[in-house]
Amino acid sequence: MTTQLQSPGREGYFGPFGGQFVPETLRAALDQLTQEYHAAQADPAFAKEFDRCLREIAGRPSMLYYAGRLSEQVGGARIYLKREDLNHTGAHKINNTLGQVLLCRRMGKKRVIAETGAGQHGVATATAAAVFGLTCDVYMGAEDMRRQALNVFRMELMGARVVRVDSGQRTLKDATNEAMRDWMGSVAHTHYIIGSVVGPHPFPTIVRDFQSCIGREARSQMLQTAGRLPDVVVACVGGGSNAAGMFSPFIADKEVELLGVEAGGTGLSFGRHAASISCGRPGILHGSLSFVLQDEDGQTAPVHSISAGLDYPGVGPEHAWWHQMHRVRYTTCDDAAALQAVCTLSRAEGIIPALESAHAVSAAIQRAAELSSDKIVLICLSGRGDKDCNEIADLLAKVAKPAGATAKEGR
Ligand SMILES: *Cc1c(COP(=O)(O)O)cnc(C)c1O
Repeated sequence: MTTQLQSPGREGYFGPFGGQFVPETLRAALDQLTQEYHAAQADPAFAKEFDRCLREIAGRPSMLYYAGRLSEQVGGARIYLKREDLNHTGAHKINNTLGQVLLCRRMGKKRVIAETGAGQHGVATATAAAVFGLTCDVYMGAEDMRRQALNVFRMELMGARVVRVDSGQRTLKDATNEAMRDWMGSVAHTHYIIGSVVGPHPFPTIVRDFQSCIGREARSQMLQTAGRLPDVVVACVGGGSNAAGMFSPFIADKEVELLGVEAGGTGLSFGRHAASISCGRPGILHGSLSFVLQDEDGQTAPVHSISAGLDYPGVGPEHAWWHQMHRVRYTTCDDAAALQAVCTLSRAEGIIPALESAHAVSAAIQRAAELSSDKIVLICLSGRGDKDCNEIADLLAKVAKPAGATAKEGR
């Protein structure tokens, strides 16, 4: 399960990236978590219980779907979708929160906290906490609370408390800062469920492992349905958890091309995107060394993306390493192309993707068009678009206005 590209010797590092750049107070909690995780990995009962949760709560295995009409329309490679959108709560996030709640229970802690941007990780955490009867506080930027009011309501309905964050851009980075601050004062009885493959060791490893059910299932489903591995695997990259979960079981398959898609926003100039690998440079954010969007003085840059889930100025350290090793290629998809891909997939297959996932769909369509019909492109469809429908409607209305005609058609 561990990837072969992981550098030997230094635990918690992926080549030069990763590490544990945290205040002293968090060291003990991270050490405890690391030990507990090792113990859990060695315990067959843990794997069995995690498996049961994935089946009975998340609804796994998620389907592998041949997108026949989309493939025909593109006229290139055959396109398959790994349907993480069909998981309970609508995205891949639940895989990780179930695993971490089980770890929390092993450590005898009764409270979990989380940060959330779009609210998907918050909802997934609130769900897992409700299932296991844990107290749950979710930190969320005031701006995100406004944009994702429905998710705030869902969390509260499941018994979580949503803590409003008014600092900075009042979005994901600021919520993460506050969650870390909470944890520094509450580590004795609280577990921090980080939502992506970011943060200090051991989080990037733990989250990747919990999410790698995506790639393991997809790999064997591909072998079963097509009799071979895909030629290209595509996933969107925010912090990088759905991509890490999808890619890691394929890392050793050298013939499989891996493509990560970052948020290109409204253009690749400073502050207008969230493409941390494509446009960032090495720096420390939230406890680990990776690619970070920053200004000349090393201050974290403001970010923008059409999708709240990709709107983060950093990326998981293992992605930085895969990038440096040229094992994964990272590209970008801008807001307009992502919006277009939402419409394309909705029309062609009756599947409304999350705006995040639409970035992967867009790049995959482009790549598939370059390939012949005997090739296979596999997309990680990380989540469903219901949460984004208000946003999508507004954006389509704006796009349609100058031209006039397509607004009605678009709806
Ligand atoms: C949160 C989210 C993402 C981005 O997070 P990663 O850690 O990069 O996977 C992508 N897609 C969906 C549907 C999400 O909810």
